Formats: sequence, C-alpha cells, structure tokens
Amino acid sequence: MMLVLAQAAPAIPPFRDAAIAGLVGMFTAIGLYHLVFYGMRRHASENLWFALLSLSVGMLGLCYSASLFSAIFPGMTRFRGMVLAEVVAGVSIALLIRTLFNVRFRWWETAALLAFTGCVPAALILPATELRVLHYGVDVVVLLGVVILVSRVVILARGNAPLARLVLGGIAVFGFCVLADLLAEYGALPWVQLVPGAPGAFWGGFLLLIFTFGVATAQRWTLSEMQAGIDPLTGLASRRVLDDELAAEVERVKAGGRSCLLLIDLDGFKRVNDVHGHVKGDEVLRCVGLLLRQHARPGDLAARLGGEEMAVLLRDVDLPRARELAERLRAAVEVMTVPIPGGALSVTASVGVAAATPGHDKTALVHAADKALYMAKAQGRNRVIAA
Ligand code: GH3
Ligand code: MG
Ligand code: MG
Repeated sequence: MMLVLAQAAPAIPPFRDAAIAGLVGMFTAIGLYHLVFYGMRRHASENLWFALLSLSVGMLGLCYSASLFSAIFPGMTRFRGMVLAEVVAGVSIALLIRTLFNVRFRWWETAALLAFTGCVPAALILPATELRVLHYGVDVVVLLGVVILVSRVVILARGNAPLARLVLGGIAVFGFCVLADLLAEYGALPWVQLVPGAPGAFWGGFLLLIFTFGVATAQRWTLSEMQAGIDPLTGLASRRVLDDELAAEVERVKAGGRSCLLLIDLDGFKRVNDVHGHVKGDEVLRCVGLLLRQHARPGDLAARLGGEEMAVLLRDVDLPRARELAERLRAAVEVMTVPIPGGALSVTASVGVAAATPGHDKTALVHAADKALYMAKAQGRNRVIAA
C-alpha cells in the first residue's frame, strides 16, 4: 500500500483530485446509508460492518490526495490516516464475512481479531517511527487474515452458497489485479492504468470487491427479511419485527410522539379447529391477516404474535381514536365469512387497546394492552376494551 502511495505521488493530473473526491463521496454516502439502515433495524449488523468498511475505504481513497486529506483531517498525516483506514477496513471485513455467512470464529480467531482491533487506538496515538512498524505488522496480519477468511468462504461456496460464490469471485478478481500490479512493477506486464494518475489495477479490483460485498449485504437482508420478517401464513409482520418497532416507538413517544397498541385474539378459536379442521382454521387466520393489512393505515404495523393472536401498532393516534379504529376492526372481523361446505363460517375477536406513555417501556405497553384484552375476554368476548 505504501508503495502504491509513493508511485501515485509524482505527476498529478488536474482532474485527479476531482475523481478522488467523487469516489470518496460515493463511499461515504454508501457508508452513511448503511449506518442509518442499521440504526433502524438493529439486528441487521451486517449493515453496520459494511458501513464501517465503506467509510474506511473512503478514508483510504482520501489518502491519495494531499489537499483533500489535509482539508478534512487537519493535523493528521496521510500515512497515519492510511494505517487507520486499513485497520478499520480489516476489522470490518472480518466481521462482515462472519455475519454474512454465519461463520463461527474459533477462539484464537476471535482473540486475533480483538488484538487487531486494538491497533485502532494504537494507529491514532503511536509516534511516527512506531507507526511504521505497526504498519508492517498490519499488512502481514491482513494478509494472513485474508487467507484464513478466503479459505472459509471457499468451503461455504462448495456448499453451493450463491452469496459466498459472488464474494469469492470479487476476491479472485481483486487478487488478479494485485498480481497484475506486481508483474507490471517488475516489467513483466505493461502498466495498467484504469484512471490516468491512479495506481494500477489495484483500485479497479478493490472497488469490484467492495461492490460484491455490498450486493451480498443487500441480498442477505432481503433473504432474512423474507424468512424472519413476514409471517408466511398471514402475510403480517413477524413478532420479531414488531418487537423492534415497539422498541423504536417507545423512544419516539418519549420524544413527544403518540402511539397505541392493539392486541387482538380470536374468540373460541380452538373450537373452530376442532369442528372445521386445522386447514379451515388456517384459512380463517389468512383472511383475518388480510383484513388487518387492509385496515392498517400507512405507517401502522400489523403483526402476528403467534397462534391466533395478532397486534397492530398505531402511530400518531391517541387512545379514543385508537379505540375507534379497534372497534371498526372488530366489527369487520365479525361480518367476515369464510366459505365452508353448505354455508359460511364466521369468527369474532376480542381487542385490548393501550396508549404508550413517556413512562412506558416496551414490556409495560404490551402488558397494559394484554390486561385490557384479558378484560375483554372476561366481559364476554367480541368487544374492545381500552386500558
Ligand atoms: P379464547 O376465546 O379464550 O381466546 O379461546 P381460544 O380457543 O381462542 O383460546 P386458546 O388460546 O386456548 O386457543 C387458541 C387455539 O388456536 C389453539 C390452537 O388450536 C389454535 N391455533 C394456534 N395456532 C394455529 C395455527 O397456526 N393454525 C390453526 N388453524 N390454529 C391455530
Ligand atoms: Mg389465544
Ligand atoms: Mg383465542
């Protein structure tokens, strides 16, 4: 890397800084996007690692322009910036691969990663001479780490994991670019110039590698969202998604928002199964799920908690309005029918309503709605009770 920097130094075409600024801006924007995404969905930790990777790549790119670097990091040398970016990129690639492919780290791998993470503060405070020593160490560890992780990804790709094969393709192209640069340096290949003034094929391969990681991160989220985010029977959000949204909503209420939670439980559903069979019971659940999705306003979240219990998180409504919406929903369930041989089957639902207050945490809100639901059942079912 140091070598590459040194080669980039002499002739500086006028548009070089503009090209670097464009690339750095792009990586920073991608990094910030993934950071916000992670802020909204805390279980998407691959997005956090990809954000760190993008931001560190942006910083690495910045090191190629003396004027841009000193404007953004006044008082820091470009060499220090480069070592710092390399360490952060190394840590985030390791964690990204671990999260993306569910790789279980062995104890010594975890220990090595922790020790390597310790290089972040070291890169910030070490004096220049020691920083050079650290940099050699970092290069060796990154090289070893890449070999270990690539072997893990190869094993995964053998199991026909498409995302692993994609990332492996990116790694292969990057490796080829680094090799081409090395051969060019020793005169074995003509000098490859992707961008005039840019150092060889390195950046082309590196950008492609980051791109494959980006695609894998996006793909992984879609897959896991489909698997964990949506209940396959009703099409409603899963309990996990509701849990996350409730936690975020409680914070919004503390900051002055208003929202309510409806807990819905079908009445005597066990009997529906007993009399009409489980398949019919499933059909009823599917129809109620559709009804809930149709009644939810944009911004609301309808979820299935499990069994015949569902919930709707209503945003920006007070308790009287939430009760009105719950009543409308209850009435809609009551008139809904599901065809059965020789007639139609109908069900009723009991609904508990609670408003989130700034003092409520997630559990207290669910508990309040649950208590109201229990009262609705105790008072004869097919009714709405507000806490
Ligand atoms: P209550 O009015 O007190 O709520 O009576 P209930 O019969 O609805 O109460 P309970 O919670 O005891 O019964 C829920 C039943 O829901 C039990 C189970 O047979 C049925 N059930 C749970 N999950 C499913 C499912 O995925 N499909 C079908 N068809 N039935 C389910
Ligand atoms: Mg129940
Ligand atoms: Mg029930």
